[in-house]
This record gives sequence, C-alpha cells and structure tokens, in this order.
Amino acid sequence: MAMEFSHCPMCGAVLAPFDEGGRRRMKCGGCGFIQYLNPSSAVGVLILTDEGVLLVKRRFEPYKGKWVIPSGFIEYEEDMREAAVRETLEETGLEVELTGLHAAESCFDDPRGNTILVLFNGRITGGTLEPGDDADGAAFFPLERLPDIAFEAHRKVLSGLS
Ligand SMILES: [Zn+2]
Repeated sequence: MAMEFSHCPMCGAVLAPFDEGGRRRMKCGGCGFIQYLNPSSAVGVLILTDEGVLLVKRRFEPYKGKWVIPSGFIEYEEDMREAAVRETLEETGLEVELTGLHAAESCFDDPRGNTILVLFNGRITGGTLEPGDDADGAAFFPLERLPDIAFEAHRKVLSGLS
C-alpha cells in the first residue's frame, strides 16, 4: 500500500505488516506503534452569485492548471469552519460567511492520499477577488460554461448545481 511507513515515526525501527481483524496494518516491533491509515480532512466553500460559481485554478500538482471549488486541508488543531473561511480567503482574497452545509464526499483520486471533503455554502462579506499564492487564478464561472475541473468530488458537486 502506497501510504505505508517503512520505519516507525516514534522510534525509527522497521515496521512489519500484521493482521488486525482481517485488515493489514504496519506495526513497530520496537515500541508497538501501529500505523492506522485514515483519510485526510479537507473543507471548501461553495459560493454562487449572479456571475456563477467561484472557482480557483490550481498552481501546483496534483492537477495543476485545473480548477476547483476553493478548498484545502484542515490543520490538526483547527475548527473545520474556520479552515473553510481561511482557505477561501487565502485562495481568492474574498472574506466569506458560511451559511450551511452543502455536501460531504469521499475523494479517492488525490495521489497525496484519500480525503474526506466537507463543502459549505457561503456568501461573500468582503475582500477583493484576487488569486492567492497557491492559485493561478480565481474567477466566477457560469454553471453552463465550467472550465476543466480537478477531482471527482468537485465535478460531482458542480454537476449537481446545474
Ligand atoms: Zn517504534
């Protein structure tokens, strides 16, 4: 499995596979550490205006050059709603207020690892539309003229809007 550690992150010893209830996991023979593989958590904000839906063009791999709903990973100590507002500001320059939960999807097509994406609805409260450091563009698109979208979960959510 691609995301398995070869060495223990706690003590540095070599990890070896073992069977836990029919599921293969990696375990340290030195300190007993077990690597549990869980999806990462990402959040995003769906912003619909008269101009269309707000999207961000990816500057970096994976899927560099494709567009996504403003989104990003949640820091470990961060509230997911604060993360959604933060990521939108960082990527688009726009301040947003969350108005509700839109969707939650499992993502299996990110080469960095599997992810759970939680998408909120939001409305713009301030700021100026301007792509951030990790975006090559930020723009509104009419739902009937969407650009090339990265990630199956984003395509699914956007196709559900039109
Ligand atoms: Zn160890």
